[in-house]
Amino acid sequence: MKPAQGLQESPGMKGEYRSMKEKQYQFWFATGSQDLYGDECLAKVAEHSRIMVDGMNQSGILPFELVWKPTLIDSASIRRLFNEANADENCAGVITWMHTFSPAKSWILGLKEYRKPLLHFHTQFNQEIPYGTIDMDFMNENQSAHGDREYGHMVTRMEIPRKVVMGHWSDGKAVKRIAGWMRTAVGIMESSHVRVARVADNMRNVAVTEGDKVEAQVKFGWEIDAYPVNEIADYVKDVAEADINTLVEEYYDKYEILTEGRDEKEFRRHVAVQAGIEIGFERFLQEKDYRAIVTHFGDLGALKQLPGLAIQRLMEKGYGFGAEGDWKTAAMVRLMKVMTQGMKDAKGTSFMEDYTYNLVPGKEGILQAHMLEVCPTVAEGPVGIKVCPLSMGDREDPARLVFTSKTGPAVATSLIDLGNRFRLIINEVDCKKVEKPMPKLPVATAFWTPRPNLAVGAESWILAGGAHHTAFSYDLTAEQMGDWAEAMGIEAVYIDGETTIRRLKEELRWNGVAYGIR
Ligand code: MN
Repeated sequence: MKPAQGLQESPGMKGEYRSMKEKQYQFWFATGSQDLYGDECLAKVAEHSRIMVDGMNQSGILPFELVWKPTLIDSASIRRLFNEANADENCAGVITWMHTFSPAKSWILGLKEYRKPLLHFHTQFNQEIPYGTIDMDFMNENQSAHGDREYGHMVTRMEIPRKVVMGHWSDGKAVKRIAGWMRTAVGIMESSHVRVARVADNMRNVAVTEGDKVEAQVKFGWEIDAYPVNEIADYVKDVAEADINTLVEEYYDKYEILTEGRDEKEFRRHVAVQAGIEIGFERFLQEKDYRAIVTHFGDLGALKQLPGLAIQRLMEKGYGFGAEGDWKTAAMVRLMKVMTQGMKDAKGTSFMEDYTYNLVPGKEGILQAHMLEVCPTVAEGPVGIKVCPLSMGDREDPARLVFTSKTGPAVATSLIDLGNRFRLIINEVDCKKVEKPMPKLPVATAFWTPRPNLAVGAESWILAGGAHHTAFSYDLTAEQMGDWAEAMGIEAVYIDGETTIRRLKEELRWNGVAYGIR
């Protein structure tokens, strides 16, 4: 296996990258050719690739700008372009395409030095063979079917992870796949800027939320640091009452207040505790430059409540979260939020937990929730605030946001540490409404049926070693998550409509050989 791409970058870039704001990434479009066919041909190559880049930019499908680059005709120009891409902090990847034949030995040095995401767009300028006029000049000028194979061979021989997309550049389906890959590429670039603050250790005796933090930094670039819980509790204590009152007003404007017979003043006081936690935690995270956080209900120090509403609001703002010290899921939630940033009509990304089943034939599914911490980006319909006792821990009743989630396809992912390697399990799921209201359940929920069905999906998940915590999104696909895993150099296991238990068991056994040896 080759090392992950995108983990290293030039020094001095970090400050700029480490921002909750969306970065203005660009992707470069590099066309390969050679000087064998003369200047007239090369002029046409350049003209064609410009038209293609303009067309794709104007399609409105790509989430990031495609930047046209002059035609590459020899080893020196190729090497220079890839190194410029490495150094350009706005460049999140290079898309390559061979208009004519481009001898692939010219690509070796450039590819060897290139460290960012790579896509090979296997396309051609013309859509149809010009039957009436085609001659050998046309064939030599338009031979992507030929040149892209020569180039592709070299990338395969060099074992460089890359995405290959085939189709005409004017075809929305092909451009959509490039658009999806662009978000994966941003996930690859941004992975090394994920920093997780742990304000508690993993829950005692729990296995699946544990993991090798050193290896996670080697593989993914994640920085995972621990703090005594009272260090962050001090930030909460220092929040001014006026700031808390302003935020509570915002809550009361934005959400339905579901006191359910509790004294209104007492209810408000409980909500105010969460407002203080939201402000204090966010100041801590901003000051120390973290993009994700884990908590633990059993280690709350001076905090008066388990952070519930506060964590839900922070997730909504883009922070990653994992409960009971689960830093792997916290980092994945952050990463998946970055990958979906700025998406039009996004349906949401959240930390989630498999809780309880409905096993009625024809209505099978898994009820998803957590003690409190589900991100309101996945909500459909009204979001309310409730204050209720927590069945675990020893603190006062925490305020939390309650809602049900959207319907439709989504992905649930679980990153596990198998001792000798990481595995990313990616399950395609179909989210549904539960049949009946659940008036006594005081937490946000989702309900889904894993593909291919509950029995095979759940059996596969368990055979693959998946956790009860997931990083969940309506806005990413299994393909995007699998491509991210490939770029990180880790194993990905898909559970989807095609999964059979027999095939999955074989795959897990083969993967043990492919990934278990280092
Ligand atoms: Mn949990």
